Amino acid sequence: MTNESFRTNRPGNPRGPRAGKPHFRGGKPGASHRRHQSEPEEKFIRRAIPEIDTPFTRMGIDPRVAINLSGLGIENPSPIQEKSIPAIVEGRDLLGLAQTGTGKTAAFGLPMLTRLLNIGRKPEPRTCRALILAPTRELATQIAENIDNYAIGTPIRQYRVVGGASINVQVQRLERGVDVLIATPGRLIDLIDRGAIDLSQTRYLVLDEADQMLDIGFIHALRRIAKMLPRERQTLLFSATMPKLMEELADSYLTDPVRVAVNPPGQAAEKIEQGVHFVNQGDKATLLAEYLSKHRDELAIVFGRTKHGSEKLSKLLEKWGFKVAAIHGNKSQGQRERALASFRAGDTKVLVATDVAARGLDIPEVAHVYNYDLPNVPENYVHRIGRTARAGRDGRAIAFCSPAEIGELRAIERAMKAKIAIVGGEEPFEAAKIRERGGPAGRPQGAGAARKRPARRPSRAPKAAQRA
Ligand code: AMP
Repeated sequence: MTNESFRTNRPGNPRGPRAGKPHFRGGKPGASHRRHQSEPEEKFIRRAIPEIDTPFTRMGIDPRVAINLSGLGIENPSPIQEKSIPAIVEGRDLLGLAQTGTGKTAAFGLPMLTRLLNIGRKPEPRTCRALILAPTRELATQIAENIDNYAIGTPIRQYRVVGGASINVQVQRLERGVDVLIATPGRLIDLIDRGAIDLSQTRYLVLDEADQMLDIGFIHALRRIAKMLPRERQTLLFSATMPKLMEELADSYLTDPVRVAVNPPGQAAEKIEQGVHFVNQGDKATLLAEYLSKHRDELAIVFGRTKHGSEKLSKLLEKWGFKVAAIHGNKSQGQRERALASFRAGDTKVLVATDVAARGLDIPEVAHVYNYDLPNVPENYVHRIGRTARAGRDGRAIAFCSPAEIGELRAIERAMKAKIAIVGGEEPFEAAKIRERGGPAGRPQGAGAARKRPARRPSRAPKAAQRA
């Protein structure tokens, strides 16, 4: 599947990119102003430059890009955009620390498109001018959709390359060259190895979710990719969290960067109501069904730790009558995309996912996040709960903590520098004592004792679920 199919409005997104858009001067209102393939670029550029004055044009964003924003519900710059855009337009490198949902994509996308529009000619075959790397296919897709919307009516072409889709189609498309290439690192390396893309003319590099990109799973691919890029380039790193060690590594990719932080990194969005529910592992499914039953019409993401466990849980919830889809590494790309599309559209109300869905996914209607299993990387907790309370809405995040997960809970609280309120169940006695003392995190002795009890399988659906 190529990203051409993402050009239409997103399902479930009521804000069409063209809604409420100002008219072009001399253009045909209502007519599609996306340039036809055979139309000469020069002619198009002359026709399409609108005369508008918006907070974005005042920050240096090209009017051809700025004109698309109000139709997307973007009227005024968000704090991260206010701080980043002028520096990026100027050509500076940037390290942006911002929570999820703060408008990061536009913060780098708008000035990048502005700079690309200034080039005024087509890219060479098998090259890209700007490269955006993201850790998951879903995130790459979402970025591609956003960039596509921001670039409507401009000659800028973006293309998304991710694993799980036909590489031959991608090789063919890259023949023509592309302005903006959005990629997951693994597939990009495959394409480089096939000679399908050459990065020697890539002057812009964006690492989204940079802390994950610089982590062990991606760093080797990233090093290989970085070696092929020209030294003379603009590099932009964005992340919600940036551990100290990672920051040093990040610095090695940047030249005299501007540092921008809109919220202390690692802290959760203020609007997320968080809670922890203490529960035995074997009772988690029943508890989850109780929570889900209370909010049947609202969208919820349930995070599990393993692919197998998440699949099993989604099957169980389905049996209990919930409209559920699962997304994890054992699903094909097609299945992942279909699951996400039906969740975005609200046809599926519950998405059970592993950490592939933890970062960056922007579905404003998500009202609940359940950490069915606590993540063993504490930063992932912040990413996971950031899937809710997006676009100024409220959201709830409940962590299910079994006696064996007290250590993970403490590590999360330490990373966030905040305690999570207890909303249900009983905190194991030893753990509570340690918490009171503010003592070291880690597995309290009591947890071991509790773990000796065999985990009970959910034997029956809760009443509410049985009724469904
Ligand atoms: P992001 O942090 O890039 O995932 O963006 C989160 C959401 O905020 C997306 O749906 C954007 O369309 C939206 N958004 C980005 N910038 C703004 C803005 N300045 N005003 C309102 N919404 C925005």
